[in-house]
Amino acid sequence: MIDANNKNSSNLLLYLILIGIVAGGLCGWFFGPKMHVVDWIGEIFLNALKMMVIPLVLSSLIVGIAGLGDITKVGKTGVITLAYFLTTTAISVVIGLVVVNLMQPGEGVEMTVEAADESLKQASGITDLFVSFVTPNLVQAMVNMDILPLIIFSLVFGGVLTTLGERGRQVIGFFDVLNEAVMKMVHLILYMAPVGIFALIASKLGAAGGGDQFVAELMKIGKFAFTVILGLLVHGLVMLPLILVGVTRRNPWRYFKNAMQALTTAFSTASSSATLPVTIECAEQYNRVSRRASLFVLPIGATVNMDGTALYESVAAIFIAQMLGIELTLMQQIIIFLTASLAAIGAAGIPEAGLVTMVMVLQSVGLPTEGIGMVTAIDWFLDRFRTAVNVWGDSIGCAVVDELETKYVEGG
Ligand code: ASP
Repeated sequence: MIDANNKNSSNLLLYLILIGIVAGGLCGWFFGPKMHVVDWIGEIFLNALKMMVIPLVLSSLIVGIAGLGDITKVGKTGVITLAYFLTTTAISVVIGLVVVNLMQPGEGVEMTVEAADESLKQASGITDLFVSFVTPNLVQAMVNMDILPLIIFSLVFGGVLTTLGERGRQVIGFFDVLNEAVMKMVHLILYMAPVGIFALIASKLGAAGGGDQFVAELMKIGKFAFTVILGLLVHGLVMLPLILVGVTRRNPWRYFKNAMQALTTAFSTASSSATLPVTIECAEQYNRVSRRASLFVLPIGATVNMDGTALYESVAAIFIAQMLGIELTLMQQIIIFLTASLAAIGAAGIPEAGLVTMVMVLQSVGLPTEGIGMVTAIDWFLDRFRTAVNVWGDSIGCAVVDELETKYVEGG
């Protein structure tokens, strides 16, 4: 039997997942909408992962905060984590801005305005983002899988528990066991991954009309898609590994291979939140990052730290400006830099959430939100790449914080 904890077995699982991706792609490509028949299999896999998210976020952060120790240590680790998130997000946006200005993907593309989705037009502004940090109803936030307010609640709740002495420790102990039990369930769910991932990819590509239609859609804005993927590759395969090596001296290839189950899950689900259980599993079991760091960094990272999304938003905004023949000033590009970073922080870890928060970026420099209509057709495809980079950024962040925390916080 495959045991996800055993090295050979985890390799076998990974190979099966990779086969699942390729087979799913081929089936979706050739059989198109007929692959609808496997929708239900993908849905079971996705639901099983999502089912773990709420208990995992709550228990991870409560135990994570408690594990960090006193409030000054929490504060220092929090600052390191935030500094990592903000720096890498900023770097990714800069990479996005550089590639899109060099490649000029919007030049000569005619903008055919299909009305942007009404829900997109109503998307929120910056202040709404801050309001969304606090929920009036915790249960409803859980029901809606609204993770950001849950994070805030869990952090404060965990912190308060540590001040309650023995009784507080008992409650923390409860969440600790809950966390372990949920992670054991994640092991079991991972056995389904090869088939689940196959089904998710086949049915999504199938629903998009199969290979021919997909290529036709892609060709319309092929240079834009290429620019996005190029930027994501530079960030994911050059910048982030450099940071990993620079700070932790870990072997980036090994780290990447060990994170592959999470990255492939991110690619097939297009959701950082749904991938969170697998991201934690890979960080703790395969990459041997301390539980203290993974419990604290990963749940927050899955919601807040989205390098891929930030890069995508900046490239898309400039692409739309280029299509309309609008020259953006340096100041406007700086505004895009800032709002794209914020929009990525505000985007939920769910499929195509980046498209919704992009409204904020476009409005900040007065670009028409209808421009989004140009990129919606293939957003489901690009979403997979950016989600994988989002998860990769979180995975590396976890090792970076682990290292810096051991050095500067634990060591005094
Ligand atoms: N799907 C992305 C994620 O879950 C968010 C986005 O749409 O960019 O990380």
